[in-house]
Amino acid sequence: MKTKVELTIPDSLREHAKGLIAKTSEARMQAVIAWSRGNVGRAEGPFAAGVFDLDSGRCVAAGVNRVISSGCSVAHGEMMALMLAQQTLGVVNLAEKGRFVLTTSAQPCSQCFGAIPWSGVEAMEFGATREDVEAIGFDEGPCPENWRELLEGRNIRVDGPILREEASAVLQEYARSGGNLY
Ligand SMILES: [Zn+2]
Repeated sequence: MKTKVELTIPDSLREHAKGLIAKTSEARMQAVIAWSRGNVGRAEGPFAAGVFDLDSGRCVAAGVNRVISSGCSVAHGEMMALMLAQQTLGVVNLAEKGRFVLTTSAQPCSQCFGAIPWSGVEAMEFGATREDVEAIGFDEGPCPENWRELLEGRNIRVDGPILREEASAVLQEYARSGGNLY
């Protein structure tokens, strides 16, 4: 029986994210959409996310979907970005280290929606919508209809869809490439 779980992001993604400054939601979204497109090129799910410092715009962590390569159903882009941000900053609650936003290429699924409140991010912004994701055959899970209000009720600002067309285009590319749906 194993006692350890290991999840990684590609070195090329880490290099791209290192030192990245993105002060506007559009700039952050452009970055995560580019990462999601790169992930399609790696035959992985068409999703990416990042955690950014809202004051400096600095990218603290980048994540892409690693479900296929890691054989792990929880390895969504948002989870990877949040876990790596917590590890990088050395805290479970990111709010202890500043004001952070989770920027994700698509509206979070039910799992990632559930993970956001405990991460300590102050805001969440997304690109493609649940409808866009489900239109190509992915299952977003049982998200409450009022998910947006539920996050805002916990003082987590929600912004989106941002650059929806560009974000959705990556989903379409993935569908055309015959990518795995899960
Ligand atoms: Zn998810």
